[in-house]
Amino acid sequence: MTEFIKLSAAELAGLVADGTASARDITQAHLDRITSTDERLNAFVTVDAEGALATADAVDARRAAGEQLPPLAGVPIAVKDIVVTNGIETTAASKILRGWIPPYDATIVTKLRAAGLVPLGKTNLDEFAMGSSTENSAFGPSRNPWDLARTPGGSSGGSSAAVAAYQAPLAIGTDTGGSIRQPASLTGIVGHKPTYGGVSRSGLIAYASSLDQAGPFGRTVLDAALLHEVIAGHDPADSTSLDLPVPLVADAARIGAAGDLTGMTIGVVSNLSGEGYEPGVVSAIAATVAQLEQMGAKVVECPCPHFDYALAAYYLIAPSECSSNLARFDAMRYGLRVGDDRQASLEAVMAGTRDAGFGAEVKRRIIIGTYALSAGYYDAYYGQAQKVRTLISRDFITAFSGCDVLVSPTSPIVAFELGPRAEDPMAMYAVDLCTLPASLAGVPAISVPCGLSDGLPVGLQIMAPVLADDRCYRVAAAVEASLNSPVLAAAPQL
Ligand code: GLN
Repeated sequence: MTEFIKLSAAELAGLVADGTASARDITQAHLDRITSTDERLNAFVTVDAEGALATADAVDARRAAGEQLPPLAGVPIAVKDIVVTNGIETTAASKILRGWIPPYDATIVTKLRAAGLVPLGKTNLDEFAMGSSTENSAFGPSRNPWDLARTPGGSSGGSSAAVAAYQAPLAIGTDTGGSIRQPASLTGIVGHKPTYGGVSRSGLIAYASSLDQAGPFGRTVLDAALLHEVIAGHDPADSTSLDLPVPLVADAARIGAAGDLTGMTIGVVSNLSGEGYEPGVVSAIAATVAQLEQMGAKVVECPCPHFDYALAAYYLIAPSECSSNLARFDAMRYGLRVGDDRQASLEAVMAGTRDAGFGAEVKRRIIIGTYALSAGYYDAYYGQAQKVRTLISRDFITAFSGCDVLVSPTSPIVAFELGPRAEDPMAMYAVDLCTLPASLAGVPAISVPCGLSDGLPVGLQIMAPVLADDRCYRVAAAVEASLNSPVLAAAPQL
C-alpha cells in the first residue's frame, strides 16, 4: 500500500473517483508513514487516526452510493495546529492552550470536510506562528526530511515537513510574514500565500490580523492550486474576506505546465539580492530566470526601494497586532490557569498564567508591540511603520505597471541548522527578508522549487497583483515543467 504516498493529490483523487482505490486504504498508507517517520520528524502535534479513517469511510460510502465526488475527495491532508478544529485539541504550539478542545471548525476546515478531504491531524509550528524555524514550538522543533539536523522552515514547518516527507500529499499553512512560502522553499515543495482576504480567517487563531492568511502546500503546483480552490472564497464570518470571484488557479497551473510564457513580462526585484544572499541561491534563481526567458517571457529589472524597510516595518506592525490579539489569553477563557486559589487576585492569576504559558519569543513580541503602541511612542513607531507599509504597496503598484509578476528568492539562504539561529532573534528575523513585502502589501505570492544549493532545495518566489493569484500559479507551473522532476522532495534520510 505504500506506493500511495508517492502519488500527487490529483492522482490519488483520480484513483478514488474511478474506484481503483479506497479512501480508507489511501488514508491508512499515510497514517502508517506518519507512524514510521514522525519520531524523527516531529511534524505532527496530534494525529487523529480514528477521525481520519471515519472520514475516509464516509467518502467511500458516498462513492458507493453513486455520488459524484468533489475534485479532492478522499485525499489526506495535514492541518497546521493554529487552525481551529471541532473536537480536536488545538494548541498553536503553546503551553497556554494545551488541552483546549474547540467547539467549532474554522471555515476552511468546514470547506475541507465538505470537499471530502481527510484531515490526518494537526501539525507543529512556532508558538502562535511567531518564528521561522519551528524552534519556538512548545513541543520541540520539527525536522527537515532533507537533513534531520536542519529546520523545515517556519512557522508552518510541521506542514512543510509532512508534505516533503510523504506523510501527507497536501497541507494547510498560515502565512503572516512568510510562514507558508519560506517552509515550502526550505523543504522543496510548493506553498502559496493567497491575496489578503482571498481565504477566510474565521477560525484561525489570530497573530497579526491585517497580515494573516491561510494557504495550501503541495508537492506539485497543480495540487496546491486544487487545494486553493477548495479553501478560497467569500466568508461573511470574516469581515476582511473579499466578496469577489476566486481566481481560476487550477486552470492557470494547467496552462503554465505547457511551458509557454509568451506575452508575459517578469520583473526581477533588484533589491532582493546581494549581500546576505547565499551564492548557491543566487545562481539557482538566475538560472531559473534565464529559463523563464527561454519560455518566451520578457525579463526586466525592477527596483523596489522601500522593500529595504519591510523588515523594520513588519517587526513593529506584527508585534503590535499580536500584543492586542494575545490579550484574550487571560486564564479565564481557554486552556491553562495558574495560581487559582481563593486568596489570589484576578491580576495575579492572569500574570502567573501568562508568565507560565507563553514562551520567550511570544513574550518578546508582546512587549515590543505594547511599547510601539503606547502613548508617546505610537507615532514614532507604529504610525511610522504604517507609512512605510503604504510606500511598499506603492512600490508594488509602480512595478506592476511594467510587469505581470515579480520574482525573487523566497529565502536568502537554504535550510539552516537547528540551534544557533534560535539564540539570536535578529538573525532569525533576517531570514524573512524576501517574503515580508508581499505580506505587508497583501499581494499573492507563491514559492516553487527551482533547484538545489549544496544539495538543499532553493525556492523561487513569484508575486502578483491583488487577486491575480492565477499568475503566480501559471509561472510556477512553468518553472516546475522546466525541471526534470516535478517533485524535488527526495526525503533521502527517510
Ligand atoms: N517569521 C515571521 C514571524 O516570525 C513570519 C511568521 C509567519 O508568517 N507566521 O513573524
